[in-house]
Amino acid sequence: MIRHDAPEEARRISLLYWEVKENGTWARTVSSIGVTGDVGAVATGHSHAVLLDCPCANCSEPIAVTNRSWANKIGGKHLDAEAPPYLCPDCTAVQRQEEDERRQRAEEARRAEQERVERLIGAALKDEDAKSEPAGPLAEVDPRALALYAALVQHATGGPGNLLPSLTAVGPLGWTGDTEQDGEFLLSLYAAGLLALARESPTEAFLPTEDDEGVTFYVADVAWRLVGGPAARRARAEEITYTLLTRPGPDGAAAREALRTLTAQAETADVIAYLNGVLGRQHSCPETPEARRDELAGIIRKGFEHGYSTGQMFCFAWGAARSAATWRDETPGVGAPEAASASVTGLKTRIGKAIECGYDISAYDVPRWHRAPLALDGLRTLREDIRRVYDRAVIDACTRCDQQGFKETVRAGTGTKALWRCTHPVEIPAPDPVRTATPDPVGIPTPRQSPEVKTENATGTATEGEVLRGDEPPPTASAPSPSPSAQFVAREP
Ligand SMILES: [Zn+2]
Ligand SMILES: [Zn+2]
Repeated sequence: MIRHDAPEEARRISLLYWEVKENGTWARTVSSIGVTGDVGAVATGHSHAVLLDCPCANCSEPIAVTNRSWANKIGGKHLDAEAPPYLCPDCTAVQRQEEDERRQRAEEARRAEQERVERLIGAALKDEDAKSEPAGPLAEVDPRALALYAALVQHATGGPGNLLPSLTAVGPLGWTGDTEQDGEFLLSLYAAGLLALARESPTEAFLPTEDDEGVTFYVADVAWRLVGGPAARRARAEEITYTLLTRPGPDGAAAREALRTLTAQAETADVIAYLNGVLGRQHSCPETPEARRDELAGIIRKGFEHGYSTGQMFCFAWGAARSAATWRDETPGVGAPEAASASVTGLKTRIGKAIECGYDISAYDVPRWHRAPLALDGLRTLREDIRRVYDRAVIDACTRCDQQGFKETVRAGTGTKALWRCTHPVEIPAPDPVRTATPDPVGIPTPRQSPEVKTENATGTATEGEVLRGDEPPPTASAPSPSPSAQFVAREP
């Protein structure tokens, strides 16, 4: 079809351009008509072709094309394709419009859904912001989680206020060296009302519940907030610490043993991370093999149990990594993975020999790149506090308690006397715990239990201004209150 207003020359070129032979192929090449670019521009500017043998896939009308390449694409070499999968220009326009509308509707639906979820998250976070007191008694909470709480308070006091980063943001070692366990602890602290979800949590950390009434969250991805003001949470952390230090009977001993194990796990994860870091950063080796991690943890535990400090363990690890890398460099056929595995064996040999011969090992500083489990400092403080309370030398030197470390305390108000574990409030120099330390006394059951041991809360102060406390949860924690945001259910990503 040639446009009616086309000039004579354009009509002539268009006819030559579109002419086909009997078999449907082009009558001549474009270059035989004139300069290719010019011919194409003139022909397509003033004419188009209708492929009479090629019906539209939708309306069956012949398809119109604007140039030869489209004509061949739709009609094939002989312009006679019977059922090409193409639409005529009209149908194409309709289809395109329908597609645009569909896309727009989908986009609107997506935005509406996003707004709905954001409203749900907003409502949930509003509930979270309102939390100011623990929801229930703390006696039921895993003592390790409570120890983590004390460490979290210590961490927060050091800088970022009441905001705690998500586990994902904290990094692979988490708070205690085991992010899965950290998640469980954080959830139990959340259930107890000691932690709330922070407003800073990313939207992606939430998703609607199946009933569409609320939102759930991914434990690893939400940020947390310490509930209560600085003074209140410090007091709560002190209460928790005091209970951990002095709680009598098998429950108290078990709690202290659990804390000792948790701290040992964190210390071990710390050294493993250091060894992996040296292997990767200084020797281009992969991390120590997963299959040998339990063995590696056992080797490191043994070093700690024999009194070596973290700095000294780093020294062992540094040497083990370097020896393994040297062995790789000097031995044909030995690669980086073998060297990483050999560093485990090397560490075992080094620690074993040092224990056997009583070597004095120098302590290495923590390098800048190394990230220890974030709660490790707090856990160490707790462990040291506990050690001190039960330390024979400290008890002997303390003038305020008897030979077993108990002192008589008077309950204010009633005047009832009770024997209670002394925390030796005056600083008494303790022997250096490194190498010369007596076995860790944490977890040793209290030697005896006074029949008069208090079992109820008391706010009355005893001597040295210490708060007298029993096995019961502290008063602030026992006030009944509704369960924390019922709409929140932990869900694994
Ligand atoms: Zn059509
Ligand atoms: Zn004392």
